[in-house]
Amino acid sequence: MNQTARRPAPGDIATRIAISMRRLNIPGLPRNYELVYEAFAGSDPALTRAFVALGTSPTQADLDALGRQFLVHHHGQGIVADAQETISRNIEECLQLLRREQSKLENYGRTLGRANAEMVDPESLRVDIIRNFITILTTATDSTISDSRTVINGMVGHASEITRVRNELDEYKRMAHTDVMTQLSNRRAFDDMMAQIYSDQKSAMYFALVIADIDKFKRINDTFGHPVGDKVIKLIGSLFRAALRKDVFIARTGGEEFGFILAGTTAAETMSIANRIRTTVEQTPFVNQRTGTDYGPVTLSMGVCMAADAENESDLYRKADAALYASKNAGRNRVTMHMPGADGELSEARAMYRKISA
Ligand code: GH3
Ligand code: MG
Ligand code: MG
Repeated sequence: MNQTARRPAPGDIATRIAISMRRLNIPGLPRNYELVYEAFAGSDPALTRAFVALGTSPTQADLDALGRQFLVHHHGQGIVADAQETISRNIEECLQLLRREQSKLENYGRTLGRANAEMVDPESLRVDIIRNFITILTTATDSTISDSRTVINGMVGHASEITRVRNELDEYKRMAHTDVMTQLSNRRAFDDMMAQIYSDQKSAMYFALVIADIDKFKRINDTFGHPVGDKVIKLIGSLFRAALRKDVFIARTGGEEFGFILAGTTAAETMSIANRIRTTVEQTPFVNQRTGTDYGPVTLSMGVCMAADAENESDLYRKADAALYASKNAGRNRVTMHMPGADGELSEARAMYRKISA
């Protein structure tokens, strides 16, 4: 949310990017430019760190690996275009094989037809002519069988290439909807899921949204460093997965913010689930096993809104977000439910939070 505000204006960093790309010998490809831009803009601290870790002479393979990891959507366009090209090439080659096979079978049919025509009067046939026919037919049959084998092998090869591409696309689809750090769903998957809630107004009644934000997370980064912050985010992600039922949709929606979408729970049940998660995190020791350093306490503030109390997905998010900031203002480590009618009050919570934290 406020990450966008922190991003430097594009013009400010364009020169730095150009200079750095030259200094690091990074080829001026559009995808490299985008990667370096995102690394400099700092929208994802993990990308910035991974880029710096590549050192002073990153290879194109290193850069592409980072692109696949952090800018999946952009790289996905290349993957999809390659897949389309491979599939249409394979289909065209299959058609060519079949066309060739068809013309060979037609030749074979003509050979059989000629033999049949010559043999209309079997009594006039001599043994050497019959032998000759049999030799021609045997050769034609053998060659047709061998051609068919070639066609089958060719088709099997093309089918396995198409399967490989399909698996690659499935993996891309999974990556495009997965948060790299926690392996939970990512923001894109969350937005898709939110849009689905209101695709049918009747079913919208059954959903609830919970937004959770780690309290005073900057303290962890500032005191112990970003890698520790990353570990805390990962651990919290795995706590969520272990504590929530499989049918609860869990996403990392931003830096240290998460969203849960529950189906079929009442307001009271949703509050109790949210509180159970909050308590689980509060009671989990965040301790370095090797050094004994205690990174805690780690707590969560949460906001809840029932889908039935919102007009559409953006209203639902806005109301849950306002409830979350009411939890922050009220002292953190708590869950607040959006109450119909208290809309204005909760919206003020967001503004008040900004003032207090500034
Ligand atoms: P509160 O939410 O309780 O008001 O305080 P906070 O300190 O958590 O507030 P804020 O949202 O301002 O700060 C969140 C910080 O999380 C800032 C950002 O640098 C950090 N952050 C975001 N994404 C990541 C990440 O992937 N890894 C690490 N280590 N830090 C991250
Ligand atoms: Mg926070
Ligand atoms: Mg936050």
